[in-house]
Amino acid sequence: MTQTPPQELLDKLIKIVGPNGIIEDEARGPGPIVRPHDTGEVAAVLKACNEARYPVVPIGGNTTMVQGTHRVQGEIGLSLERLNEIEEIDLASRTMTVGAGCILQTVQETAEENGLLFPLDLGGRGSATIGGNISTNAGGNRVIRYGMTRDMVLALEAVLPDGTILPMQGKALKNNTGYDLKHLFVGGEGTLGIVTKAILRLRPLPTSDNCAYVAVPSFKALTAFLSHMEAASAGTLSSFEAIWADYYEFITGELTPHKPPLPHGSPFYVLIENLGVDQDKDHARFEEILGEALERELITDAVIAKSEAERKAMWEIRDDVFQMVHIAPLWAFDISVAIGDMENYTVDLKARLSERWPNHHLMIFGHLGDGNLHVIVAVGDGSDETHHEVEAIVYDGVRKLNGSVSAEHGIGLEKRDYLSWTRSEEEIALMKQIKKIFDPNGILNPGKVFSDGKSYPHTPSPLERTAAE
Ligand SMILES: Cc1cc2nc3c(=O)[nH]c(=O)nc-3n(C[C@H](O)[C@H](O)[C@H](O)COP(=O)(O)OP(=O)(O)OC[C@H]3O[C@@H](n4cnc5c(N)ncnc54)[C@H](O)[C@@H]3O)c2cc1C
Repeated sequence: MTQTPPQELLDKLIKIVGPNGIIEDEARGPGPIVRPHDTGEVAAVLKACNEARYPVVPIGGNTTMVQGTHRVQGEIGLSLERLNEIEEIDLASRTMTVGAGCILQTVQETAEENGLLFPLDLGGRGSATIGGNISTNAGGNRVIRYGMTRDMVLALEAVLPDGTILPMQGKALKNNTGYDLKHLFVGGEGTLGIVTKAILRLRPLPTSDNCAYVAVPSFKALTAFLSHMEAASAGTLSSFEAIWADYYEFITGELTPHKPPLPHGSPFYVLIENLGVDQDKDHARFEEILGEALERELITDAVIAKSEAERKAMWEIRDDVFQMVHIAPLWAFDISVAIGDMENYTVDLKARLSERWPNHHLMIFGHLGDGNLHVIVAVGDGSDETHHEVEAIVYDGVRKLNGSVSAEHGIGLEKRDYLSWTRSEEEIALMKQIKKIFDPNGILNPGKVFSDGKSYPHTPSPLERTAAE
């Protein structure tokens, strides 16, 4: 049942953040959104809501793929947009201290201006915030080399529902002093506390970039090619984005503006990128590695980007998932299985979908080196019933192979009914106990991650929203 915040609570919140600190914004869901200026205000807002036992939903850039910021019961939104300061870049420690509301792209650009790299990169970079990236433990395009967001966070400041501020832990890479509590907030999806600040780990800025599309004749060759690239690239392989033929032919077909860098007709394509430090030498080595792969018949064709414009065009083919508007209604899934199980998984998925809906579309692409696939299914009428049927098919295969119903997007509202498909009863019971310790009154992002026994209508992800327009 939808509730509205009591006037007494709203008055308290206005006192804390000022009259301009509370807004209504339909684009981010119904009901008030509180916009504190600093950690102290975040703490005061949470304390007031906790005392009133009133639910709060943290909001970053709102690019969630799993309805993580969806407000369903009249919750107050808590936006971190005003905590968007870059406080410090420490060149010696190679760290950046940022407010949770800082936009990912701003962090990337600021690092680059200082000759360093913040390696996290994903399609939503222009809107997603560091706080949101941390809370979803976002992955993206360079996990194979630099890891997930978890691997890029050295320290965190977080606020608990009762207003307790947990201070930052320092910039050192090593800190083995008991339980590393920050990792509970990484991927915590705003259910344990609010991330207000972070110290991010920066890396040396690569100065050479070699990018190519290759055509691959079989799944066996695809995994062998990954091993070849990793072994031959001496740690410079930064992206290995596999694309199944259906998606490649669609995204470079008549309905979209993208031209195919390689002809259609191969079962698999891969977008690879090596980042290094010496353009001439690295380019020569890149050509050599691909030449060896051609000789060993791991790949059948390759095209290397010859300019920045060509490199960008190559990445657009991978990233421009919004073109799938042409095959709506559709649903997008983010799953993981071991690389060795991927072929069985995809073949079985195709067979099961074909049996049920002979005219379906199935598009697959993903961060193969991370065991992560994005699966797009377009069938039928777009109804909730069909959605559930498709979900059950997609996740059942994952469950059988001991994979995960979420590789990098989190659980949110969207996947909570499937959490138990790939996490054990014992694990979920422990997670719930942790939630109880951090948030005994259950005010933070209620109903997300764990089922609260209520059912909510599916709200489309950004991709599904675009596809439906
Ligand atoms: C085009 C596109 C491409 C994407 N590609 C990828 C990809 O390749 N890899 C990938 O991993 N993800 C991808 N995503 C999804 C990704 O998880 C999010 O874009 C991003 O990490 C979330 O950041 P946000 O600021 O938008 O968070 P929001 O969407 O606002 O919030 C996400 C979750 O975190 C919580 N939250 C937000 N801020 C805080 C905070 N400060 N403290 C506590 N909780 C908070 C919210 O309550 C919610 O549960 C993509 C999204 C889009 C739209």
